[in-house]
Amino acid sequence: MQTGEENGSSQRLVMVRYGELFLKSEPVKHHFIGLLLRNIGKALSAAGLQGHYETPRGRILIFGKEPEKIAEIVSRIFGLVDVSICTKTGGSIDDLCTAAVTLAKSHLSAGMGFAVRAKRQQKTGLDSQVLGARIGSAIYEAIPGLHVDLDHPDYEVFVEVRDFGGLVYDSRTTAPGGLPWGTQGRALVLLSSGIDSPVASWLAMKRGCEIVHLHLDGRRWAGCDVKSAAIENHRRLSRWCAGNPLMMVIANSEPLYDRMQELRIPPRYRCVICKRFMLQVASRLMKNEGALAIFTGENLGQVASQTLANLSVISDGIPVPVLRPLITYDKEEIITLARRIGTFDTHPGDLACRAVPKMPATAAILEAILECEQKMDIAALVEQACSEPEYITALNSEILPAT
Ligand code: ATP
Ligand code: MG
Repeated sequence: MQTGEENGSSQRLVMVRYGELFLKSEPVKHHFIGLLLRNIGKALSAAGLQGHYETPRGRILIFGKEPEKIAEIVSRIFGLVDVSICTKTGGSIDDLCTAAVTLAKSHLSAGMGFAVRAKRQQKTGLDSQVLGARIGSAIYEAIPGLHVDLDHPDYEVFVEVRDFGGLVYDSRTTAPGGLPWGTQGRALVLLSSGIDSPVASWLAMKRGCEIVHLHLDGRRWAGCDVKSAAIENHRRLSRWCAGNPLMMVIANSEPLYDRMQELRIPPRYRCVICKRFMLQVASRLMKNEGALAIFTGENLGQVASQTLANLSVISDGIPVPVLRPLITYDKEEIITLARRIGTFDTHPGDLACRAVPKMPATAAILEAILECEQKMDIAALVEQACSEPEYITALNSEILPAT
């Protein structure tokens, strides 16, 4: 059977390395690798690709047509640390040299410096240094005018000798690391139209959570692009769990702001009441979604409502863990990550919140907030927001039509 791109005795395939899984006990590692293979399989078939796998120690080898496309897709799978397109060869020195010279010929020319980085799994046969030197000589002889530069080479060839033969490659694409999607249970992520919460969602996914998004739609209290921008964030994030449908729940929070206005709740308390309301709606909805924790994009000191004093008032009485992965990040760090994830927008549109006061309280007093909430009958407002949720499913960067 032709299992990959074969050429004589060598074969092109995609090799991935997993990081932290390596530290797990054998049974846990076995289970997690199974989930990793399932996630890889789902992502490939979502792109119309097929692969079959081998799992030598510390690696997953993916055989399939179009290794470049496979590599591009698996470089977004959580749990993997890097991805290389390799040539799989026999284990003889001649086979390794032929593959290394073929790769080098398309990248090296006179005047360039190169290095061979060789590793072997078994401690028998040629040692790594000798192996590297032999392959280096073959490249040196095949391409005139080169020099060896082990410190700052223009080009590197990596060679791994394993019990099944050799793997030869010249680049490594960084994958996101973390743990495979679905290994840590479900969590609900409060997703806004902003920059921070999509990054928080990505970090939750990165640590193995299967996530569900919740967006609170303030309707006439929200900027006219808020809802569509939140849905766009949701769509873009679905690229990171390819093959797994990503669900978003949208709840109407307009009555909350109407009630605050109607009862003349001191405007400085609005942000804290609003964030408490979001968490209460989230914890009420979690029962239906089977989620175990709530993630938010809150950050220490970024805005007036996000002081330590306010954050503790915001989470007070919430019966599940409220996790804030961005709590210590600088805005610049968040933006850098948002660009990498693909959720940063330079022209986000009208995302203003019409309820934000000029001077939000920076140290809201819990008793005063509870008194306001009682006056507003917050429990009824939470119930109302949860009564007619809208559901939006994204799959492989597309919003699925409502059923
Ligand atoms: P972000 O923080 O995501 O950039 P933002 O700046 O609009 O968005 P903040 O006022 O900083 O929002 O809110 C802090 C957190 O509260 C957000 O990171 C997000 O988790 C949550 N949040 C804010 N607005 C909404 C909303 N309309 N629906 C769901 N969650 C929200
Ligand atoms: Mg924010």
